[in-house]
Amino acid sequence: MSALALRQVGRAIRAGVSTWELDLLAEEVIRSEGGKPAFKGYGGFPGSICASVNDQIVHGIPSRAVRLQEGDILSVDTGAIVDGWVGDNAWTFPVGEVSAEKRHLMEVTEACMWAGIAAACPGNRLGDIGHAVQSMAEANGLGVVREYVGHGVGRAMHEPPNVPNYGRRGTGMELCAGMVLAIEPMINLGTHKTRAMPDGWLVCTRDGKPSAHFEKTIAITEDGPVLLTVEPDHERPL
Ligand code: MG
Repeated sequence: MSALALRQVGRAIRAGVSTWELDLLAEEVIRSEGGKPAFKGYGGFPGSICASVNDQIVHGIPSRAVRLQEGDILSVDTGAIVDGWVGDNAWTFPVGEVSAEKRHLMEVTEACMWAGIAAACPGNRLGDIGHAVQSMAEANGLGVVREYVGHGVGRAMHEPPNVPNYGRRGTGMELCAGMVLAIEPMINLGTHKTRAMPDGWLVCTRDGKPSAHFEKTIAITEDGPVLLTVEPDHERPL
């Protein structure tokens, strides 16, 4: 359901649309399917989506004042609670035609997410996920955000363990079947360093260069990772 909301928001993205309108749409989709927006009211967050434009990394509050412009990239993060269980996912969308460097950033960040997911196999360790993401990002000259990380998902949106997007092979907690994780690389075109903004939510890149964010909730099974937030338009083989 969170994937359906994300897909519908993605389809509505165009120049001139406000992030507040996208937030309304996500909430409508989630509630019409019988779910509850997981983000709304979480720690006091006012929206059903996080909407983060260009150099904004994560946790942008949807606003009537933020209207998308041709050439922007928009990271949308949304979650739904269905029968008491949380799904959490994110995607970075282009607004019309975007620059080659933004396209590169989006493509590599998505590939980092798939590399992290592919490493989520029983017998591997948390550090293997982080290593898979970090090595791909850095080989492409991009910066891996350190302060914000993936996480376990269950009846609560954020459960242990933390799932960093950096790390060393063979280190950290052993992964086993039955774990449910949100794998969510946040990757910057420039420095990995971040800047927390005064509203207490929004996080931007320190150098003002763009950032991308892709996330899926997955379950680890004996046969490997299985996607729980499935987004038909963007589905890729593992
Ligand atoms: Mg998450």
